[in-house]
Amino acid sequence: MSDTIAAIATGRSISAIGIVRVSGEGAISAADRLFRAKNGVMISAAENRRMYYGELFDADGRLIDLCLCTVSRGPDSYTGEDTVEFHCHGSPVSLSELLRALFSNGVRQAQAGEFTKRAFLNGRLDLTQAEAVIDLIEAETPAAAQNAAGQLLGAIGLKLESVYSLLLDVMAHFHAVIDYPDEDIGEFCIQSYLPALDSANAALSRMLSTHERGRVLREGVPTAIIGRPNTGKSSLLNALLGYDRAIVTSIAGTTRDTVEEKILIGGVLLRLIDTAGVRKTDDTIEKLGVERTFTAIRGAGLVILVLDGSQTLRDEDFDALRLIPRGTPALAAVNKSDLSSVLSAEDLSGLGLEHCSICALSGDGLDSLEEKVRNLFPELETPPAGEIITNTRQADAISRSLNSVRHAIDAINASVTPDAVLCEIESALTAIGEITGKTMREDIISRIFERFCVGK
Ligand code: GDP
Repeated sequence: MSDTIAAIATGRSISAIGIVRVSGEGAISAADRLFRAKNGVMISAAENRRMYYGELFDADGRLIDLCLCTVSRGPDSYTGEDTVEFHCHGSPVSLSELLRALFSNGVRQAQAGEFTKRAFLNGRLDLTQAEAVIDLIEAETPAAAQNAAGQLLGAIGLKLESVYSLLLDVMAHFHAVIDYPDEDIGEFCIQSYLPALDSANAALSRMLSTHERGRVLREGVPTAIIGRPNTGKSSLLNALLGYDRAIVTSIAGTTRDTVEEKILIGGVLLRLIDTAGVRKTDDTIEKLGVERTFTAIRGAGLVILVLDGSQTLRDEDFDALRLIPRGTPALAAVNKSDLSSVLSAEDLSGLGLEHCSICALSGDGLDSLEEKVRNLFPELETPPAGEIITNTRQADAISRSLNSVRHAIDAINASVTPDAVLCEIESALTAIGEITGKTMREDIISRIFERFCVGK
């Protein structure tokens, strides 16, 4: 039996409502001692998931708050245990008082993630769903939240479950034949499982291919703002952010390091990196900044080249242009549209980049820049439903599982003995188990009994 835990489930700041959640064997008895429903019903006799209005008292019988209290009895609660929630006024002081009162009734402070851990341990969520809870809470874009919500519904677990089941069939058939020679079980022929392994290979490859998009969804598109000094890179960063993050001066070389900030543009999360201007310099610190600029450009998923539209193009503009790696999405932002432009249409089309005219100082033209960014990432506009792997741990395990499945296929095609193939399938299952929290041994045994009815 686990002990009883409690925590403030809502934020720590002053708010309209604050919720304290209690889970474990002693949750209901603690609530009975601290809460008096207006209608006289004890929480131990309360209906599941119904709200009761009443008075909340501390251990010495002093009134803490008037609140709503609800009970969800295990195993049909979030944690799988008896759970009580107090929906109080969002005063950090009275919520802490309530916690103190609970602690003096044998309840202890929950550790981070402990409610969800209990939900996993009690089989209410698989590991992918448990991880989706934190992803949903921490999501920075609507798309990331939608993807996490889909995973909370079990999107990844369901996909992996079908691969796991295919592989488990192979193992179960093999072990059934070996371990139960007297039973009437069909002959084990590893070749007959080749189509199943091919579909496992295809399913795992599809899942893994979403990871790059997943990284972008979670961390944003690394976006380097580049250009020669004084074209207005820092001003553009500040304009996009809506506040002065970077230092703006007319002295060339002011941005000596890279400055990084996240911003949501039309549903696309950009990790903006304002770089030191690209120019030849003898200043040691500025040189380091320019070096970092090169690194930022190499790792960028989007490059915004800022040009000064009030001046003719210079060698340094072309130097910056040449730094953009082939295949990296890029745009030219022709800044200072408030001044008279000296750049012709030919000058701009010669750059070979999509371009738009902006004024970083007033914000004019930023909407067309945003539009162009959105157009470069059309795939990010389709709301995901949980199919995107955002979690590196999961991607790593899928990749290991996929390798093992591919080795197993190669081994069958090379007519290697079945045990070498089974060894690979076992590794593939173990890797999937790491993602969902399943343990293969028990599952093989259950599958043998389910599918082959050994011993009835
Ligand atoms: P960076 O070196 O490329 O980061 O350029 P800054 O953002 O520091 O700007 C250099 C100078 O250009 C500053 O004096 C800015 O005020 C000025 N500047 C930036 N954007 C604009 C603009 O849209 N119009 C005008 N007139 N000046 C601008």
